[in-house]
Amino acid sequence: MEKAVLKPKRDYSVRRRHPWIFSGALAENSAAGSGDWVEVVSSGGETLGFGWHSPQSQIRVRMVTFGSSAPDEKTVEGLVAAAVGRRAEFFADAGTNAVRLVNAESDSLPGVVADYYAGWVVCQFTSAGAEMRKGEIASALMTFAPFCLGVSARNDVDVRAKEGLATEPGFEVLAGGEPPELVEIAEGAARFYVDVRKGHKTGFYLDQRDARAVVGPLGNNGDVLNCFSYTGGFGHCCRICGANNVTQVDVSRSALELAKKNEGLAHICDSNVEYVEADVFAYLRKCRDEGKKFDLVILDPPKFAESKSQIMKAYRGYKDINLLAMKLLKPNGALATFSCSGAMTVEMFDKMVQEAALDAGREFQIIARTRQGSDHPVTLGFPEGLYLKGIILRSMT
Ligand code: SAH
Repeated sequence: MEKAVLKPKRDYSVRRRHPWIFSGALAENSAAGSGDWVEVVSSGGETLGFGWHSPQSQIRVRMVTFGSSAPDEKTVEGLVAAAVGRRAEFFADAGTNAVRLVNAESDSLPGVVADYYAGWVVCQFTSAGAEMRKGEIASALMTFAPFCLGVSARNDVDVRAKEGLATEPGFEVLAGGEPPELVEIAEGAARFYVDVRKGHKTGFYLDQRDARAVVGPLGNNGDVLNCFSYTGGFGHCCRICGANNVTQVDVSRSALELAKKNEGLAHICDSNVEYVEADVFAYLRKCRDEGKKFDLVILDPPKFAESKSQIMKAYRGYKDINLLAMKLLKPNGALATFSCSGAMTVEMFDKMVQEAALDAGREFQIIARTRQGSDHPVTLGFPEGLYLKGIILRSMT
């Protein structure tokens, strides 16, 4: 196995179990091929761990194991089995049959995401090392994921291009059978169709499961505005919990069409659910101008900041929609607001919400905080793994 030798004094982050080694930390380029195992060595010659080589990426090595014992042909299979094993509580819960089985770096499988939808596993492989081992990973998932019917991959992800990986075909079956066009999943009392071929990410925002459970009951008896609705998630949960009216807003027509199908799945009376194909920034202004008011507003926007350099622009975008949403609340109304930008820290998010509240001239209390569900864990050495955070506020005026 080739070595990747660190520059002097650049071993700190690996010793702290951070999984990424940037090209600038290496004394010289490793001779290892794309995706190959490399032994990561300090400038003094000490073996610090083993990772996968990505010669085309700024993140040159992604650590898989730490310590001196070398990986063998069973290592990857063992890591998949361990990741699935850590989700046992989800399979013991009759209320859900959709769960993230592998959460990339935080499950020691860098660049590997595997989501389980009622027996169908859909993966994304976003590192060269992950791509090289996708057959092995798929067969391990087939073996260890309970009642697994098939494993497929979504290749239509922009980050694959950065790693020099093909983005075509957009979808491919790697093991087992071909999933149906729409896979039906359960999430507590809710039911959703998941478009595993064309939906966002692997088809569904599993990371918001806990937040949907917290927010749903807040809609009881009220008028709810669900912004960035995607396939209806939050709004759907609110209707199940007895919301009077739900307005689902998204720019994506196909997401709204699936949202409609999802309402049908739960036998919800469609006449109380309105679907609006619009830009949320403009729609919130329209509601303001028309004097509309809501008991609950949900803001679950896409990632506004891809990296730290975009954070100030993203901050202004978040503040804009939060301020507008706060002004639309009826007395005692609630706002559930989220950010999935990893570059936006919890502290910045809090600050943004507070500034928006001051500008809106309203007083709020925090009634809950949410984060990505426990099937999207974060290792202590990789705090960047926490990307999704939410604050649920109630207006005191
Ligand atoms: N809350 C959803 C997930 C939201 S994902 C759930 O629980 O499933 C973000 C959504 O925002 C996507 O569906 C995307 O189509 C939509 N979107 C992105 N930019 C938008 C904009 N400017 N206006 C309205 N919708 C937008």
